Amino acid sequence: MRNAKILATLGPASNTEPIIRTMLEAGVNAVRINMSHGTHSEHEQTIVNARAAARSLDRPLAILVDLSGPKIRTRSLIGGQAVTLSEGSPFTITTREVDGTNEIVGTNFSELPKVVTPESVILLDDGALKLKVDSVTETDVNCTVVVGGELKERKGINLPATKLPIPSMTEKDHIDLEWAMGQNVDYIALSFVRRAEDCREAKELIKKLNTREMGRALLVAKIEKAEAIENLEEIIQETDGVMVARGDLGVETSVELVPVYQKRIIERAVANDRFVITATQMLQSMIDSPYPTRAEASDVANAVWDGTDAVMLSAETASGKYPVETVRTMAQIIDAAETIRPDQLKKPVKYSLPPSGRTSQALCKAAAYAAKETMTEKIAVYTESGLMARRLSSFRSGLKTFGLTTSEDAYNQLSLIWGVQPFVHEVPWATQEMLKIGERTLLEAGVVSAGETLIMMAGRLSGLGLSSSVVVWTIGTDVPHRNLKAAQVQEIEEN
Ligand code: PEP
Repeated sequence: MRNAKILATLGPASNTEPIIRTMLEAGVNAVRINMSHGTHSEHEQTIVNARAAARSLDRPLAILVDLSGPKIRTRSLIGGQAVTLSEGSPFTITTREVDGTNEIVGTNFSELPKVVTPESVILLDDGALKLKVDSVTETDVNCTVVVGGELKERKGINLPATKLPIPSMTEKDHIDLEWAMGQNVDYIALSFVRRAEDCREAKELIKKLNTREMGRALLVAKIEKAEAIENLEEIIQETDGVMVARGDLGVETSVELVPVYQKRIIERAVANDRFVITATQMLQSMIDSPYPTRAEASDVANAVWDGTDAVMLSAETASGKYPVETVRTMAQIIDAAETIRPDQLKKPVKYSLPPSGRTSQALCKAAAYAAKETMTEKIAVYTESGLMARRLSSFRSGLKTFGLTTSEDAYNQLSLIWGVQPFVHEVPWATQEMLKIGERTLLEAGVVSAGETLIMMAGRLSGLGLSSSVVVWTIGTDVPHRNLKAAQVQEIEEN
C-alpha cells in the first residue's frame, strides 16, 4: 500500500463504473466531482457508479465534491466560436448583455467596474491572456491587450492583488453544498478561500446539513489566492484540510512562487494535524499522451517527499485520453519515491514537540516509541469518526497504519489520508473485545500474521470516539492466564 494517496477527478472520460473500477485497480483512493461542470443528475449517476465500483472490489473510496466558488468568468461569444485578441488592440469587458467578439465580451461579475482602476491588470483563461485597464465606466472596463491569443467562451477572469467584495460562497455553491450533503459525500472543497471566516461559515453549514451519526463531511480549504497565503495560519486552524490549488494560485500570485507556497502549505498543514492535497497539472501532458514528461514525474515525487497526503489529477482523468494510464503512472511514481528514497520524506518534528496537554499527542508519541522499542512496523488505531487516525497519520511515522472503524463513512473518508489503510469491523461491546475484533479483522485481511507483535491504539468505548490507551499486542496470544503454564507466564512477563 502507498502512503501518499491518489485523488482523481471524474468527468466524461472516466465517470462510468467499469472505468472507475479499473482506475481503482490502478491505484485511485479518492475521486473528485468538480461542480464547475455538469448537472446534479449527472453527478448523482457518477456517485452511484463510484460507490458501486468500490463495493465490487471491496475497497474504500472517498468522494470529494469541489464547489465552484466565486469564479469570475467571461460570457458567451458569437456562434460559440473562439476569437483572437491581438497585442496592442482595445478590448472591453462589460456587465451589459452583449454577443462576445474580439473587441468586447460580457462577464458574470457585476462589480467588475467598481473593483478595477486604470493600470489594473486583468488575466483571462488561467493567465494565458493579459489585459491592462485604460478606463472604466459604470458598466464597461476598457483595456489594451498586453498578451494576446485565442479566447474561448466562459473563460476564467483573474484579478491578481485585488481584494474582491464578494461572499466566499455563491448562491450556486449553497445549492450545490445542500445537494452534496444529501449524497453523503466525504469531503467538500471550498474554492477561493480568503479568510478563516470563510471556513468557519462553510463548516457551520456542513454541520447543519450533516446527517451522519458519527463524523461529517470534512472541509478542504483551497489555497489559491494571495489573501489565503497571507491568512494561512488562521485558515488552517478553521479547516479540516487544505488543497494546494496550484492552477489559480499560479495566476493569483505568480508561477515562481507556486513551489515556495506548496512547501509552506504542506509543512504548516501537517504540523497542525491537517490533511493536504497537492493539485493541478501534475501529469498534464498525459491528457493527450500515454507518457508523462520527466519534469512531471519529478513534480509528483517531490510532492510526495514534501509530505502531501494526496496528489490530485484534474483534466488528466476527467477529460483526457488516458485516464487509467495516468493513474497507473502516478502510482508507479509514488511507489518509486516511497520505496527507493523513503529517507527523502520531510518528517514533521512532532516527536520532539514540547508537552501540549493533548491526549492525542501523548498517545501518538507513545505509540510511535512503543513501535520503535518492540521493533514492529505496524500500528492499528481504533477510530470512530476517523479523527484519531488522521492525527496519527500527521506524525508521518512511516509505520504501516491500519485504521479500524465501525463506520462505513469513516472507512471511506480515511482512504484519502496519508499512510492509513482503513478497515470496517463489527461493533464491540467492551474494550478487550475491541482488540480481539480488530485482530480478527486484520488477520482476515491478511495484513498481519499469528505471533506478530503490533501496536494498537484503543478506546474506552466511551461513545466519544476517544483513544485512551496504547497496547503492545501479539497476534493470537490473547489466552486467559489460567490456560498458560507457569513457565509461559514468566517468559511473557520477562519480555
Ligand atoms: C486549481 O486552481 O488548481 C484548482 C484545483 O481549482 P479548479 O480546478 O477548480 O480551478
